[in-house]
Formats: sequence, structure tokens, C-alpha cells
Amino acid sequence: MNVQISRQLHPVSPAGARALVRIVIVGHVDHGKSTLIGRLLHEVEGLPDGKLDALKAVSARRGMPFEWSFLLDALQTERDQGITIDTSQIRLRTPARDIVLIDAPGHAEFLRNMITGAAQADAAVLLVDATEGVRDQTRRHGYLLHLLGVRQVMVVINKMDRVAFDAGKFREIETEIAAHLAGLGLTPSAIIPISARNGDGVARHTSSTAWYRGPTVLAALDAFVPARPPHDLATRLPVQAVYKFDDRRIIAGRVASGRIRVGDDVLIMPAGKPACIKSIEAWPERETSQTPRVAIAGQSVGITLDRDIFVERGDVVCASTSPAASARRLRARVFWLHQRPLAVGGHITVRIGTAESTAVVAAIEEAVDPGLLASDGAEVIAQNHVGEIELALSRPIAIDPYTADPNTGRIVLEFEGRIAGGGLILTAQAAALDTTSGPRPGKVASTARASRTGVNSDELRAKASALAQVFASLSPAERIAHLRREVAGKIVFTTSFGLEDQVILHLLSERTDDIAVVTLDTGRLFPETYALWAQTERRYGVRIRALHPRHGDLETLVERDGINGFYDSRAARLACCTVRKVEPLERALAGARGWIAGLRAEQSAHRQDMALVTAEAERGLIKLNPLFDWTREELLAFVSSNDLPVNSLHAQGFASIGCAPCTRAIAPDEPERAGRWWWEEESKKECGLHSHRR
Ligand code: SF4
Repeated sequence: MNVQISRQLHPVSPAGARALVRIVIVGHVDHGKSTLIGRLLHEVEGLPDGKLDALKAVSARRGMPFEWSFLLDALQTERDQGITIDTSQIRLRTPARDIVLIDAPGHAEFLRNMITGAAQADAAVLLVDATEGVRDQTRRHGYLLHLLGVRQVMVVINKMDRVAFDAGKFREIETEIAAHLAGLGLTPSAIIPISARNGDGVARHTSSTAWYRGPTVLAALDAFVPARPPHDLATRLPVQAVYKFDDRRIIAGRVASGRIRVGDDVLIMPAGKPACIKSIEAWPERETSQTPRVAIAGQSVGITLDRDIFVERGDVVCASTSPAASARRLRARVFWLHQRPLAVGGHITVRIGTAESTAVVAAIEEAVDPGLLASDGAEVIAQNHVGEIELALSRPIAIDPYTADPNTGRIVLEFEGRIAGGGLILTAQAAALDTTSGPRPGKVASTARASRTGVNSDELRAKASALAQVFASLSPAERIAHLRREVAGKIVFTTSFGLEDQVILHLLSERTDDIAVVTLDTGRLFPETYALWAQTERRYGVRIRALHPRHGDLETLVERDGINGFYDSRAARLACCTVRKVEPLERALAGARGWIAGLRAEQSAHRQDMALVTAEAERGLIKLNPLFDWTREELLAFVSSNDLPVNSLHAQGFASIGCAPCTRAIAPDEPERAGRWWWEEESKKECGLHSHRR
């Protein structure tokens, strides 16, 4: 059911007056969504005058007990009759927020709306029935949120009255749902026991849940962080048309984000041409003293520049300090509508803002049936299915990742002359940065056995050997650039947010070519590492894709060895690393032809036996460790001179940082990796990621 209380009935503050948060409610239809929404509307006094009393009277006349869900049914009826309800969302005011509740009627429709921009959610409420606990449907909804990149999630365990407000039952469900969400990289902001029907835990706690110490639903809604409003984002003006008018060339378009001011320095992307805003035009024409000096997101404008440069439809006028990337390749999460499946090698037309380019599908990394939320494999994306794809564009386009700017980070796909899909841009990277000097030579090693990828092992080794000779005299930035030129196909950089990884990401951040950045989220990382992850994404405006352990493998492992079984034996430790790291790494590298990692020879005796360039014939790829021959001093100097974000644990004596239970701080005289698996002998410390043999 989708309803919106109209502004006449329930006024919401104008944009900007109060923070607006869009929240999707997901959960099984029988778990009490309508009851919770009805109860919330009542608690925040969001109902039309007399509506509640009228419904109670009707229920009494019919001899039926009153249900809060009747409210939504009644409002839906009014909408159907065109009386007071107009669209498909519910607005309400909490003490601190204006809230739009988005009901999720079905996976496919919801995914399509979210991906094509018809609906956006900043946060989610996941509803679980206390009498039924975590069901497959609940797990699917968790996956749905993960797929859409919704990071703020509150879990509400409803119908506690039906389990006599049993704290033990609540703890059981709490543990299970928290573990499931952790496996997806989600940490709930609160897990709240409630009875939506009786009101316990919705706006206030009652004696029934005296054992619970967390927030109410309303308090947790108030704690959600709103998305940044469009006018707070970096300036983007997609050019719709350029008009010649007397001696002026007027650039027309709608400000998508930020604000345009007379005198601003801008870059015209994707070409990167600098200019300055000379004027904002007004119609009818006015005296210069009366023409506007500024226009903000949402306004359509005509501007002139201070110099005569070529600008055309599809270009984007950007803040000079924070321009969009100029990209020929991009990764996107898309919803495909055409009856003919989208396949690798397929030719489509891509529209981003006012720009258009033909494109070839270079790779399909994931394909999911949104009805079942089950993976289809990764060869094609069928009609109405979702997938992650890489596109090679025939010409550069100005691009923002969706996470950096939801207003410009969307893509529309056309096939055979009609719209066939849409999606969110996941990664887009910009021009080369070359700030480092060339250090000492590396060597070539091979971890090859028989190839299972169809790549010829001998050729791969020969190529790695040739690259090693060339790379020896290059800087890390040049090594990465050269790898990208020499290796066709997917290249993956795996980061664990160590110092080395932060340097490499910094080098990648200024490149236009496409290198996927992924991290392995074991579910056991330090909170400080998750904080650095978020900080890094913000700084570089990229989404760093997380690979999580397979849920079933994790459950088997924990059932067999216990949650911290890795302390008991090396075999258990390697088993944990295999489930939480090595297997996800294999998924991350599936189909890749290049792998960039942050190993340095100096880190340990074992790593001195590794190499700058490795031919990994088993995986069919070339592995590059661009900082392999750097010293820790060189590393720290680069981090400091570029003011890179680093893990705050370094300041507390943590040198190499992995999973929280397996890492400790080190003394000044201990080797760099002494704090990793400190109970293991030095020669047995590797986890299998970089010493894996099959
Ligand atoms: Fe498990 Fe520790 Fe390995 Fe992390 S580092 S995967 S917790 S054994």
C-alpha cells in the first residue's frame, strides 16, 4: 500500500527548514508494516482531525476490534476516490525530522524505483515478527538494502506482545539478525522490541520492555542522518543547449547540484576546459545591476563565460575545485527492462544527464533476479533483473558516482531506440597523477600451475617478466598506468585500508581509466577501519565495493569452530581466513586480468620472497604490487605530504591492521607485522590471500 498524506492535511516544513529523511520500510507483509505506519501517524499527530475516532466508531458499529492498519486502508480508499491522498509515499513529522516513509510493496517494483530514481531512500526500517523470527524473506530484504547501498538500518522486532515481551526471545532474534546484516556489511543503528498494536516502544517505552535500554522507534528515526541537500553538493550544470545571441554565447541548463555564482571558476567537463562565469542572464533583459548573481540547484539558467571556448550539449559545468570525472569506462548497477537479455559485448546507448554516448558492455559482474533475490550467475542480465556491469564508452563523458552526487550519478540505457534500463553509477575515475619517484628494481615470480581460465600460462609469465623489467625503473603511479595500458580487461585493486592501500588509492583516484576498487569485509574489522572506509569514500567520491563471506559458509564455520575458534589452532585460523577473506577474494578476482595489491618486501621475511610483478596463471592474471620496493619511511613520507586519511589505530601503536580479534598494537622494537596473529610463529602468519596455492 502506498499513500501520502497531502500537504493540505498534514503540512511539512518547506525544504531546508528541517532535515528531510527518506526511509524505506521493508519486511514481510504480515509482520505489521501497516500497523506500525498507522501507529506512527497517530503518535506524531499526523492524522486528519477526527479520522481516528471515525474509524473506531465504524469498527465498533461492525463489531470488529479496531486495527491500526485500518487507517492506511481508509487513506488508500480516499486516494482511490481522489479525495485527499495524492501519491505513493507517506510524510510525517517527528520532533526533529520531516520524514518520507516509502513502503516497499514488492522487490522488483521497489528496486526499479530506487535504481531509476523514482524513489530514493536514505535509511531503512527492517521489520521482523517476534513470533516468527528471522525468515528467508527477512534475509532477502537485508540483501535488498545491501544491493541498493542503503547503509543506515534500524531493525524493529514487532508483535512482542504475542511472545509475552520475552527478553530471551528478543535477544535470540537480535543476535540472528545482527549476524545476518553483519555478513552483508550492515550494522543496525538500533534493534528495537515493540508492539505496534499496543504502542510499546514506538513513541515511548512501557513497563513491558523494562529490560530494554535502547531508543524507541521515533527516537531512532530522529537519529537517522539526512542526505546532503542538492545545493550543498559540488556544482554541476549539465548543458542542455548553447544559443548564439548577438555577440554572446548563452549556455542553458538546469543547475543539478550546488550553486552557480558570477565570478566562479569552473571546469567544462569532460574536456576539462577552465573558464569563469561572466554572467547569469535574465529574461526579459534587465539592467546589469539587476541581473541575478547566483542560481542554486533546481533552477534553470542561462550563463555566459569569460572566454570563447567550445561548449556543447552534454558538457557539464563543474566547480573547478571538485569537477566530475572524465571517463570512457564506468561501472554501474542497472535494472534491465528489455525482453532481450543484456549480454557482454552488447551495444547500447548511454544517457547521463544531457550527455549521450554509444557503449559496449565490457563485463557483467553480478546478475540478480530481484523477485527471488537470487544470483543468476554473471553472463547476462535478463528482463526485469538487476546487475553490475562495466561499460566502455565510445567517447568521454563527465561522470559522478551515485554516492558522490545522486542527482548526476544516474544512467539511462537505450536499446534499439527505446529506454531499456537505468541505474546507478558506481565508479568513475579521473586523470593521472604522478607524484612519486622511481625506486629499486623488482623481480618476477610465478604462482602458476595449470591455467583454468583459458589464459596461456607461458605467455602470461613472459608478459609478467617483460613488465617487471619495464616497471623496475618506474614510479608506482607509472607502474599502475603501464599495467592498465598493457592488460586488456578487468583490473581489480584490493584494499584493506592499510597505509600502502591508501597511497595506491590516492594514485588511482586521479586516473581516468577503469580499475575496480574492492575490499574484503570479514565482518570482524575494527570500528576505526569502517570509519576510515567511509572517510576514504567521501574524500575520493567513490564507492568501494565490499565482498562479504558467504553466509552459509560462515554459519558452518561458526557452528563447527565457534565464533573465535581461530585462537585454538592454526588450522581453525586458516579456515576462518579462507571463509572470511580468501573465498571472497576469489569472487573479487573472477574474470580479472590484473590485480593490484599493497604488499611491500620489507613487511616480513615471507614477503621478501614475493615480487613486484607476479604471473598468477591459476587465476589467469598479472599481479602488481606497485609499492613492493618502498620502505616504511617512504610510505610514511608520502602519506604525510599528501595528507592521506589513515586508520586512527596507527597512532595507538597498531602497525599492520587486520581483523580486530587477531590484531594487537606492537612495541617500537617489534617487526611491522608482529601484531597480526601474534600467537603464531613468524613463518606461519600469512592468511592465504597472498600465499594461496591450489
Ligand atoms: Fe578470521 Fe582472524 Fe583471519 Fe579475520 S584475521 S578472517 S578473524 S582468523
